[in-house]
Amino acid sequence: MPPEPIYVTRPALPPIADYIAEIEDIWEARYLTNAGPKHQALSRQLSDYLEVPHVALFANGHLALECALQTLDITGEVITTPFTFASTTLAIIRSGATPVFCDIDPTTYVMDPELIESLITDRTQAILPVHVYGNLCDDERIRAIARKHGLKVIYDAAHTFGISRNGVAAGNLGDVSMFSLHATKVFNSIEGGVLTFSDESLVRTFTAWRQFGQVGGENSESLGTNAKLTEFAAAMGLCNLRYVDENIALRERVTNRYRERLGGVPGIILNPERPGMRSNYAYFPVLFDSKQFGRSRDEVAAALARQDVFARKYFHPLTSQFSVFQGRFPISETPVAAHVAERVLVLPLYADLPLEDVDRICEIILQTP
Ligand SMILES: *Cc1c(COP(=O)(O)O)cnc(C)c1O
Repeated sequence: MPPEPIYVTRPALPPIADYIAEIEDIWEARYLTNAGPKHQALSRQLSDYLEVPHVALFANGHLALECALQTLDITGEVITTPFTFASTTLAIIRSGATPVFCDIDPTTYVMDPELIESLITDRTQAILPVHVYGNLCDDERIRAIARKHGLKVIYDAAHTFGISRNGVAAGNLGDVSMFSLHATKVFNSIEGGVLTFSDESLVRTFTAWRQFGQVGGENSESLGTNAKLTEFAAAMGLCNLRYVDENIALRERVTNRYRERLGGVPGIILNPERPGMRSNYAYFPVLFDSKQFGRSRDEVAAALARQDVFARKYFHPLTSQFSVFQGRFPISETPVAAHVAERVLVLPLYADLPLEDVDRICEIILQTP
């Protein structure tokens, strides 16, 4: 029998008995959505787990990001990165603001803070960086720039569930941070999203936005939408949260195995290890330098695909190059991001990926013709 196909990720699921026990309460309460008991329990547990003062839950991470932009009235220019998932850039544009693309750091792939000030104009209102692959941005620099110019900082923290650096949890950086609880993330509620923040007045603002601008009445006091997390999704979150630390430890094992097999190979560039950081091992990105390695990223990806191993070219194309933008954002403005996007491959990584499969994946990579 040929081995089963291996995809870049595999959603974490709790034991089914856990989920059944959790949703029995929903049958009893007949409370299916609208911030019911499961939603409330998940809110409390997530603010503990993420070590943040306040959380607001949403139907998904993208809507959470749109909520942050729209309720903070960001309609001018937003300095952001093109080396990210579609959501970051689409949230800016769908909110009526204009993305201004900043280049990235060549080793961590997050926004290069040295370049931010040169992009600020009198229309700039916010900075929206992404902690890509869980590499935390240089928040101190970014905060200093934001303070000097009176800008908001909204982090796309979709990749940083459970991450902290020197004891500071990711969700405490910036004015607001967005976490995604999508099925493919380290921690999932099937679909779901979270905003974390310290300004208590935003609790009401964010709550209103996700339920038609209505807080305790029939009157819409703002132009909200429907972005509520259902009780079934919240129940899945409650179950998965019990196992997330165990899953992260298993992901670390897989990551270490990749590092053992691929570290030190000329032309294979791994993400730097992160001293002082509690990581979540969400992704294992590899850069292929074809001059040194002799084969390109695309050749390696094709060799893997021939053996039913489906690594992903995250993030290629850059969001600035999406066809919907019809060449409006020249790629020449972010040369480092362009370079990385042509060479990066994210390898399969999930808690129950057997180490023998990791070995086989590394063999295929190293033997790519
Ligand atoms: C997953 C992801 C999102 C969007 O999250 P959804 O919950 O799928 O809407 C946004 N930004 C980044 C970087 C992501 O990886």
